[in-house]
Amino acid sequence: MAKILLIDDSRLIAHAAKKTLTRVGHEIILAEDGVAGLEKAKSEQPDLILLDLIMPGMDGYQVCQKLIKEESSKETPVIMLTSKSEPADKVKALKIGALDYVTKPFDEAELVARVNIHLRLKELYETVQEKNRQLQDLANKDGLTDLFNHRYFHEQLSKDFLRARRYHESLTCVLLDIDHFKKFNDTHGHLTGDVVLKALGCIIKDSIRDSDFAARYGGEEFALVLYHTDGPGGFDVAERLRRRVDDNEVHDKGNVLHVSISAGVATFPHKLIHNSKELIECTDKALYQAKNNGRNRVEKFDG
Ligand code: GH3
Ligand code: MG
Ligand code: MG
Repeated sequence: MAKILLIDDSRLIAHAAKKTLTRVGHEIILAEDGVAGLEKAKSEQPDLILLDLIMPGMDGYQVCQKLIKEESSKETPVIMLTSKSEPADKVKALKIGALDYVTKPFDEAELVARVNIHLRLKELYETVQEKNRQLQDLANKDGLTDLFNHRYFHEQLSKDFLRARRYHESLTCVLLDIDHFKKFNDTHGHLTGDVVLKALGCIIKDSIRDSDFAARYGGEEFALVLYHTDGPGGFDVAERLRRRVDDNEVHDKGNVLHVSISAGVATFPHKLIHNSKELIECTDKALYQAKNNGRNRVEKFDG
């Protein structure tokens, strides 16, 4: 069953179409002019719209153009209902964005067939879109932690950097690395190592703002991009995260594991940072400092 909005000023036609389409199981909402039709398209979110061409006030062409401009209805299939048999009118309707037309007085079987085929096409289109989203996720995300992956991180950071430079915004990068991670693998096996990585992924997701960006950079290294965040602000985020990891216990197969991380922080603008590559290099230097200075700590890049 689909929800269909029928915009037509003729009661006779509207009721005949409603009867026909209700009989085959669809829910029909009626609107008797363009203005009411546009309102209902927004509030009811129909699966398909049947639209009369000639109406007092706003005609079908104008309504169709508005539907296509509107975010909430731009992908809703529109079928024109027209009593005109002039090909030029039909072509105009199709050019404006209607997907099909039915000539009035309509044949019941034809109306049902055309409505159903466009509903089916819409369903197929939505399936393809969903598959595309899933493929995007597979291409951009890390399978273990569900954070973004290394490739996507670089892609995103280079775009973010250009924007920050152009609009004079501050941008902070954080690199995190688990301390002595090798010992988890060596002592408890790689599957336990994976549990630790997943747990850290969850803490990271939980600790940053929705607008910030987190990725698994490599093996046991993670990266954050913090927008509109200056050096001290970025340091605080990393330090809060470090403490949270330090206070947390990871449970696996009866073992209680304590994990700590070291983090490096670098912020643009900085006199030594001119592009995203340099931002990462400087962040990496700060991380190296954190490791050198004893681990389980955060260092910021001073240059
Ligand atoms: P440090 O404190 O200096 O960072 O020491 P570390 O042991 O963490 O660093 P090192 O680079 O020597 O070791 C990283 C280890 O991470 C080695 C590698 O086997 C492990 N590793 C990388 N990716 C994965 C993964 O996906 N799963 C598991 N279980 N281990 C991984
Ligand atoms: Mg490590
Ligand atoms: Mg490492």
